[in-house]
Amino acid sequence: MVVELISVGTELLLGNIVNTNAQFLARECAGLGLSMYNQIVVGDNEERLSEAVRTALRRSDIVILTGGLGPTEDDLTKEVCAKVMGYPLEEDAHTRARIQEYFKNGIFKEIPENNWKQAMVPMGALVLDNDNGTAPGLILEKYGKSVILLPGPPVEMYPLFRDKVCPYLQKLQPEMILSRMVKICGCGESQVEERLLDLIDSQTNPTIATYAKTGEVHIRITARVSSEEEADKLIKPVVKEIKKRFGSTVYSTKEEETLEMAVVRLLKKYELTITTAESCTGGLLAGRIVNVPGASEVFREGFITYSNKAKRKILDVNKATLKKYGAVSKETAKEMATGGVFATDSDICIAVTGLAGPDGGTEEKPVGLVYMACYIDGHVTVEQYQFKGNRNKIREQSVVKALDLLRRCVLENCGKEK
Ligand code: ATP
Repeated sequence: MVVELISVGTELLLGNIVNTNAQFLARECAGLGLSMYNQIVVGDNEERLSEAVRTALRRSDIVILTGGLGPTEDDLTKEVCAKVMGYPLEEDAHTRARIQEYFKNGIFKEIPENNWKQAMVPMGALVLDNDNGTAPGLILEKYGKSVILLPGPPVEMYPLFRDKVCPYLQKLQPEMILSRMVKICGCGESQVEERLLDLIDSQTNPTIATYAKTGEVHIRITARVSSEEEADKLIKPVVKEIKKRFGSTVYSTKEEETLEMAVVRLLKKYELTITTAESCTGGLLAGRIVNVPGASEVFREGFITYSNKAKRKILDVNKATLKKYGAVSKETAKEMATGGVFATDSDICIAVTGLAGPDGGTEEKPVGLVYMACYIDGHVTVEQYQFKGNRNKIREQSVVKALDLLRRCVLENCGKEK
């Protein structure tokens, strides 16, 4: 079935608000197995909105509109859709009672007159109670087509869609789209695609798609199915094959799990504590780890040792090392990681030192050169990277690689993850 979105609101056209409703609905509809070929944004204008609804009805089975259901003069969505579909408006006693109830405990002594406009619904419409506002959602049906009207505020629209519209759409379209994610760190997107080419080329259900993120590649395996069991049957063997091909570069197969979450999960699993010693990343690495709920179980301390003096004072980096090799060197990174462990008595320390630029690069040590070291169980692993991009990009990439180095060191030291 083909679905089309119409986002209503002049604010959207002027760029005053971002169309997050369209993003939400597009994702939800894709998950329901609906095909979406068009999305439109229309201002609060009767003529243009009518035209958009007529066009959408000609080419789609389901039209979802958000916004313009409010009580004010410029809220026209319901009136326009009722007119296009040929249904007169009539008062809905149930919605009127709900509006009364909604205002009972509010700040208004009297219900503003124009709010009663929201109790008017197109004849024969399915009314979807809105528990977070006064404008109900509405579904109008005609000639096998459905027009679904939802309020603009996301706090009202999301629950209405999930609780009331989803079940309605599932009945119209019993097939659903389910997907699983495999997340990889340590391989570029083209490298990943190349190693998956035979699978990508030969599969139609499920399909495989790769997405490049900073320092990571996410692989989505998507199947069109009629049940969760069927999805499992189709998707599981593909996930298994991908894991086999990419080994320990796969850090997660959970949609919602980020790299730092996977790292914290591993540290918890092996009961390890960690300290960070950062120079060019200036606390970004510690920030990513602390972002994970429950990080307190594993995160001991985070040092930002930006100057040589701080590296010496806090991490006991040798003066001679700094003089001979410089702050951005394998040797300094190694001493930072070792010093971090001894300063805090944690099991692991991950250290980062590099040149984020834009100034300070030389031929021998160009901007983007970053060393990172991980101390674990008396052993230090040091890696060298040459990142490209601006200061932010270099620092972001450094954090991802440092998290991945940490993950790999824990795995190597404590055994491979199942
Ligand atoms: P209300 O009953 O509050 O008037 P409404 O259904 O008339 O709701 P609008 O007046 O069009 O909706 O928009 C109200 C608010 O909802 C906007 O100011 C904005 O904050 C949010 N909103 C509307 N449309 C979108 C959208 N497409 N994406 C994100 N937010 C939106």
